[in-house]
Amino acid sequence: MAVVDHFQRPLRSLRVSVTDRCNLRCDYCMPEDEYLWLPREDILTFEETSALVDVFLDLGVDQVRITGGEPLLRRNVERLVRQLAGKPRIRDLALTTNAVLLARQAGALKEAGLHRLAVSLDTLRPDRFTRLTRADALGDVLAGIDAAGEAGFSPLKIDTVVLRGINDDEIGDLLAYARARRAEIRFIEYMDVGGATRWTPEAVFSRREILDAVARQHGPAAPVSELSSAPADRYRLADGTVFGVISSTTEPFCDACDRSRLTADGVWLLCLYATDGMDLRNLLRRGASAEELRTLVSRRWRARTDRGALERLGSDRRSAFIPLASLKRDAHLEMHTRGG
Ligand code: SAM
Ligand code: SF4
Ligand code: SF4
Repeated sequence: MAVVDHFQRPLRSLRVSVTDRCNLRCDYCMPEDEYLWLPREDILTFEETSALVDVFLDLGVDQVRITGGEPLLRRNVERLVRQLAGKPRIRDLALTTNAVLLARQAGALKEAGLHRLAVSLDTLRPDRFTRLTRADALGDVLAGIDAAGEAGFSPLKIDTVVLRGINDDEIGDLLAYARARRAEIRFIEYMDVGGATRWTPEAVFSRREILDAVARQHGPAAPVSELSSAPADRYRLADGTVFGVISSTTEPFCDACDRSRLTADGVWLLCLYATDGMDLRNLLRRGASAEELRTLVSRRWRARTDRGALERLGSDRRSAFIPLASLKRDAHLEMHTRGG
């Protein structure tokens, strides 16, 4: 029986970041030249991560997503995948990656027992990719996506953040690219999360505009009716192609939010917009028992009132959520530390 929070939302999904490092510098996530990194000695070992995941499984979590930073930068990440895949209470074990290193790791991840993969891809144009990420790596990403298909990750998910004036003219092409690989693409609205220091309301390309852009190239899409706490609303084109829209900024889904996040150094965050979290690493390293951790975590979840994106809707003259000066003091406020 899942523990529920103040608004009756169950504790069901956990995002586990395994590193705060990344090999890209996406403009909507890591636009700065310098970053404060988590101290190496604070990063959880796989054994520690696994022990903390067990605490959450005891409390009803059944979906785990490995993320980062870039999770494929964490050495031997497939060992953690194998460890987690051995836990039958995890019904859905997924990993989110920018795919730069995926071509050489897809087979090992599949073999280790990973259920699902999501790849982030915002453009199909090499020059634009380089401008958006500060790395000339589109060829590696596309090779990674092909390798994931060959390794048997099907259907693959592709996540695209849409930025006005940057890649909104590629919505139709990205959808066609995903369809040709039988991948399901999800278009994500640009969020003003910590780290997105260049965010402006004008740069948000809304769900309505995304659907219009799809319709112009592929015809109208009908909503797929389904009962789910997943953030993506799914749509179907006349030819059967299904895609998703995650309207986190204009129509947030906080009321159904069952997810929380564990940073690579073991800080547990109740919301993407939370400004602090619970330091489970410290508790674990000081010898707290599983029973003690379960009690603290369930007590904290029961008191949860976070609805970050919904509350942001009400703020006038909206700009970046966390000032740069605060990000420079606390790496935990960064999107690349909390894992998206
Ligand atoms: N590095 C991996 C990747 O990019 O897939 C995993 C971590 S990344 C933080 C997870 C997801 O967060 C990515 O799909 C990324 O596009 C998304 N993301 C980062 N900053 C965002 C923002 N400001 N608005 C919306 N999505 C964002
Ligand atoms: Fe881009 Fe993901 Fe790295 Fe952020 S963590 S800069 S979204 S690849
Ligand atoms: Fe959940 Fe917070 Fe995101 Fe709302 S803003 S969906 S409460 S993580």
